[in-house]
Amino acid sequence: MINDTYRHKGLRKKLSELVAEKGIRDQRILDAIATVPRHLFMDSSFLEFAYEDKPFPIGSGQTISQPYTVAFQTELLEVRKGEKILEIGTGSGYQACVLMELGARVYTIERQKALYLKSKALFENMGYKPRLQTYGDGYKGLPAWAPFDKIIVTAGAPFIPAPLIEQLKIGGVLVIPVGDDVQIMKRLIKINETETKVEEHGLFKFVPLLNDKNAGE
Ligand code: SAH
Repeated sequence: MINDTYRHKGLRKKLSELVAEKGIRDQRILDAIATVPRHLFMDSSFLEFAYEDKPFPIGSGQTISQPYTVAFQTELLEVRKGEKILEIGTGSGYQACVLMELGARVYTIERQKALYLKSKALFENMGYKPRLQTYGDGYKGLPAWAPFDKIIVTAGAPFIPAPLIEQLKIGGVLVIPVGDDVQIMKRLIKINETETKVEEHGLFKFVPLLNDKNAGE
């Protein structure tokens, strides 16, 4: 049974208002923050922290992103209903659920098996249905399912992986934090097969996008 009470709903409403005060304007995103039960993505002993605007450990050395960061990346993606979106770094599954609340068809990859299994069970329990959830290396994207309208990377990447640009539709958008200790949030628009336009949207701090698939297990 899903434990989601009026108290949790009230806390989510407040969190969504806080995210709005911090500058997120898209009402659909604010509604998604007020809807997705973030406390269920965190270990039970941390329930009280679920509705603070902070990142939090989810096990396997990883974190669930800060709600403001989730909202900010989602806003940069300019999600429209029915769009096909690839997420790199499923983690807890929270960001994927926000995208599904916006009506996106979500494909998501996670390189750590424990997190993959945990989020898979959560999606099923909560009734969220990603189009595809896999265990693998996000640097490679999902060539078999390409092209995508949008791609979101939720870990700090040392560079923009070329396969991700290849797997974008023309006119598609890739949102990716790039850097080592701190990352610059980059928004890449694919203009045609050979040209891209890259915007920068401030500094963030993510866990790293890792290369060696076996390193974190
Ligand atoms: N979107 C997540 C944020 C998770 S943090 C959420 O909403 O909770 C980033 C995640 O990226 C971690 O779970 C980490 O294991 C994963 N990750 C790191 N390197 C990866 C890679 N090369 N491919 C896929 N996932 C990766």
